[in-house]
Amino acid sequence: MLMRSSRRLATRLPLVKSVQKSLTLSQTRTLASAAPQPESDKSESSGKSSTPFSITPAGIAVSLALFGVGGYLGYSRAYASPPTFLYPETSTTPLEDLEPPKYASDAEFDRAIEEIAGLLGAEHVSRDQPDLQSHADSEYNCHHAKPDEVPRVIVFPGTTEEVSTVMKVCHKYRVPVIPYSGGTSLEGQYISTRKGLTLDFSRMDAILEFNKGDLDITLQPGVGWQDLDEFLKPHGLLFGPDPGPGAQIGGMVATSCSGTNAFRYGTMKENVLSLEVVLADGSIIKTRRRPRKTAAGYNLTSLFIGSEGSLGIVTKATLKLNPRPAAESIAVIAFDKVEEATGAVQDFIRSGVSLNAVELLNAKTVYCVNESKQLSQKLDEKPTLFIKVGGPSQVFVDETVKIVKRISKDHNVQNFRFATSETEKTELWAARKIFYWSTLKFGRETVSPDVNVWTTDVAVPISQLATLVKECEEDIEKSGILGTIIGHVGDGNFHTLLVYTPEQAQIAMDLVQRQVYRGLEVGGTCTGEHAVGYGKRTFLEKELGDTTISTMRKVKMGLDPLRLLNPDKIFKIDPNDKEH
Ligand SMILES: Cc1cc2nc3c(=O)[nH]c(=O)nc-3n(C[C@H](O)[C@H](O)[C@H](O)COP(=O)(O)OP(=O)(O)OC[C@H]3O[C@@H](n4cnc5c(N)ncnc54)[C@H](O)[C@@H]3O)c2cc1C
Repeated sequence: MLMRSSRRLATRLPLVKSVQKSLTLSQTRTLASAAPQPESDKSESSGKSSTPFSITPAGIAVSLALFGVGGYLGYSRAYASPPTFLYPETSTTPLEDLEPPKYASDAEFDRAIEEIAGLLGAEHVSRDQPDLQSHADSEYNCHHAKPDEVPRVIVFPGTTEEVSTVMKVCHKYRVPVIPYSGGTSLEGQYISTRKGLTLDFSRMDAILEFNKGDLDITLQPGVGWQDLDEFLKPHGLLFGPDPGPGAQIGGMVATSCSGTNAFRYGTMKENVLSLEVVLADGSIIKTRRRPRKTAAGYNLTSLFIGSEGSLGIVTKATLKLNPRPAAESIAVIAFDKVEEATGAVQDFIRSGVSLNAVELLNAKTVYCVNESKQLSQKLDEKPTLFIKVGGPSQVFVDETVKIVKRISKDHNVQNFRFATSETEKTELWAARKIFYWSTLKFGRETVSPDVNVWTTDVAVPISQLATLVKECEEDIEKSGILGTIIGHVGDGNFHTLLVYTPEQAQIAMDLVQRQVYRGLEVGGTCTGEHAVGYGKRTFLEKELGDTTISTMRKVKMGLDPLRLLNPDKIFKIDPNDKEH
């Protein structure tokens, strides 16, 4: 108890000191005016000359007494109720409690960049327009940057120490920093709202340590998941999460991504063992060690996963690996109705059958895939499940397929196709993989060459999936714009791809909003895997409520009090921020 309170006192000592000082001075003044005037003062007021100060024993005694009383009052007041602007006593940080953040002036920004260029080498700092533009936005983004939302500088660090150096300089000058890995995120995650500096990890793309026996690997943030997959293949291993082509580990950790394999292997949250993170002031931390389990302290690893670059910069990640199935095949199963397909999925799960991926394409998506003319044989244009069945042997796979077939029959299956050759397997899975490009291509050919795709992302309890997918299909139909639906249905997660011209942007936006609100109404989340970024902040508020968001903001303010790291993402950090 004693130790605890003395430690608390020690952490507050600077504050106690400053408050004590100011209270002592003011109280001295108050008390002095009430106290009988010393002789020296009386003589001055009577107009007679005298020495300005005379030290008498009585004066010393009074001063000591005043100092003691003031000190005691100051100390006890500061200890009992320290100023809340310095030490807020609340457990949450509501937006209205914050002052707007203060960032570097133009001159300070330039000085910071000059220092960074001096430390890292000018060749690793770019102000070239193509570099700035390519880090500002992408065609996949659902929320596009405004013309002036472009980073002012791109910095390419090569090591953790360099990232730390950059952060120390940025901290000194209050420069906002946006981390950037593969640039495939979809919700405006790296929009440069504060026109700061963007950190690009393309030079940090090394595999640092591979522990085949322990099934783990440590790598830098710029390693792409597809390159990692190529590296692991000859070792008979795989890493679970498989998001958009081009995504890299840093961004994957930061968005807590997943993909088609999540049903079997989980999301990033289940696949990261440990992280090295550079904090906003340049401190370097490691969140935990390599063992599969630990009960050692807070789970900081999970805190950083999904924090979208707003709490710290991932400079190393240690990931869990899985054995690659010795045998695997693909089943493509068509139903008349979405609810038959999702009903079958619920029964697959209940039966305990082990599947590696369970994906749904609605009839319109299958139509677009057929229209892409990438397949040697057209698929039935019906709601269709794409299932990966894998395991330690072909016997295991064959047995599993029998169960899948039996359950599908119970749900009025219309067509059950099972790949029998490597070529067929590759082609059938490719049909699932090309849904995005097929939808975009079809839109460009039949709607307008300048269409964009808005990819939404909602996850709901699986029992609610069929109703929601059907409602979304009807809503899209009524809206008059082209839209396809694809779901990682094993996880109750689905996306609509809304194809819109610039004039139809509002229609798409309204559809997205209705879809998210429908999902929230049935206990779902506004994002199963694409994360919140800039575009889903309002939905997140609706999903979790103000107090939970204010708790997140408290964590943000604890780790990044100057609000330098990826500002304005996930939730608002500035009371003057009027954007949705
Ligand atoms: C065609 C297509 C298909 C997709 N399919 C899927 C899918 O199936 N599943 C899925 O989950 N996602 C999918 N995505 C979305 C996207 O691929 C994921 O969100 C991915 O995880 C983003 O990784 P990235 O490297 O591109 O990150 P970026 O876009 O570079 O960054 C994303 C966020 O991470 C932060 N960040 C980047 N690097 C770091 C770092 N080192 N430290 C801290 N923060 C950092 C950024 O500031 C930003 O907030 C898809 C995207 C596309 C275009």
